[in-house]
Amino acid sequence: MFTSINPYTQKKLKTYRPDSSAGIERKLKQADRAFADWSALSLSDRTASLRKVGDYLKTNKQRYAELITAEMGKTLQEALGEVEKCATTCTFYADHAAAYLADQSIESDSDGGPAARSVITYQPLGPVLAIMPWNFPFWQAMRFAIPGLIAGNVGLLKHAPNVMGCALAIEESFRESGLPEGVFQSLLVDVPVVETLLKDRRVKAATLTGSGRAGASMAAIAGSQIKKSVLELGGSDALIVLADADLEKAAETAVKSRMQNAGQSCIAAKRFIIEKSVKKQFTELVQHHIAQIKQGNPMDEATTMGPMARLDLADNIERQFRETITKRAKLIAGGSGTTLHREGCNVQPMLLDHVKPGMAAFDEETFGPLAVLIEAKDEADAIQLANQSDFGLGSALWTEDLDKAARLSRQIQAGSVFVNGLMRSDARVPFGGIKTSGFGRELSEAGIKEFTNVKTIWVE
Ligand code: NDP
Repeated sequence: MFTSINPYTQKKLKTYRPDSSAGIERKLKQADRAFADWSALSLSDRTASLRKVGDYLKTNKQRYAELITAEMGKTLQEALGEVEKCATTCTFYADHAAAYLADQSIESDSDGGPAARSVITYQPLGPVLAIMPWNFPFWQAMRFAIPGLIAGNVGLLKHAPNVMGCALAIEESFRESGLPEGVFQSLLVDVPVVETLLKDRRVKAATLTGSGRAGASMAAIAGSQIKKSVLELGGSDALIVLADADLEKAAETAVKSRMQNAGQSCIAAKRFIIEKSVKKQFTELVQHHIAQIKQGNPMDEATTMGPMARLDLADNIERQFRETITKRAKLIAGGSGTTLHREGCNVQPMLLDHVKPGMAAFDEETFGPLAVLIEAKDEADAIQLANQSDFGLGSALWTEDLDKAARLSRQIQAGSVFVNGLMRSDARVPFGGIKTSGFGRELSEAGIKEFTNVKTIWVE
């Protein structure tokens, strides 16, 4: 049985019975059948359907946000924002899909003979398996599903076991918006079933958001079947603050980036790298902003940080904190001496100073409310420290010199660099990473094309 537990109260919310083998087979058949009809519809019919999903999400946002908050603990305000983002992304793709997926004509001479005409078309692949995590239980799944479905694919979701209520709610939103049966289905299954699904001839491709361990395992199986996969994995994003930065704005944004969703975001600013000459001033500003955070019941409007989503995740951030402290980093907010303040899943936001390579908080992905300060000698040292990571998802660069920003942003090893702003995912621009942060892109034109057959039609 899958059990949802409210991380704030630790009370059991609901249990969900896993799908039986016969149930899984029914869903696979349904997906296969649905793909034939759904992919044959015109693009404008599919975009009209996804517009309705956006409307349905808007109408039901309070109910869905309460479910998100109950299952994984983010504040209700954050959860409302998450559902709204899904709704606006439906509209975004409904508005842009026709342009993104339009045939492209290419003039192509044929060996000096008469000019031939080539057309590039973007056709759907079929049922795509999406393996998704609990940290943004609606957004992570929808970020794949909205463009994927508009392109003509159908979706099968294997969600994280602690957010099965959200998995069923997402399925409901597609069904109640009038999408045909089988176009989007949630599978209530455990990890071992993933291998069976990936090896099933009806599943054509897969996408996973989560840890490197999960991604490597999924992609290895998909690769053995010669099936395309997209991996959106962890990150240890650097936020670089140069001496000429707007320190007040940088500090405020750094704390927001690190602490939103109780620090459980792949693109949180996980390593603050600051030029020596402004480190003291920046540190004081960060301490001030951390002190403003109001922890508590995530359902209360005044709360700005809820609990972490599960006890084992809180245990892990505590381990990383302990290992880092042992190597002589210094706790300057969120506890005293070598003791952090924690009650179950409620971990007080922490700030560690004197963090260096070789410490857990520098080398590993820290998925919780733990901010770290790393001193850089100068701008070249800052870039070197930023790149001294196995990860390469997002990053942020703070400087008032935009020419310098243009130059340095090309030296940062990451899927994106946000200059003087909050690193975020936005439907208009590609999202994804390099190095162990994964491969492939979500969102924008690049994202909608990931699960298409880029087909060349050459006419002599
Ligand atoms: P996981 O990566 O284990 O879980 C994410 C999803 O992948 C879940 O649906 C999970 O299912 C599934 N999964 C796990 N192992 C496999 C596998 N071998 N094959 C296929 N699917 C698999 O993350 P956790 O929840 O355990 O979190 C651990 C750490 O991962 C975090 O502390 C954080 O560092 C990172 N993480 C990063 C995220 C991101 O947004 N980049 C999101 C979530 C986690 P199940 O839970 O049933 O195992």
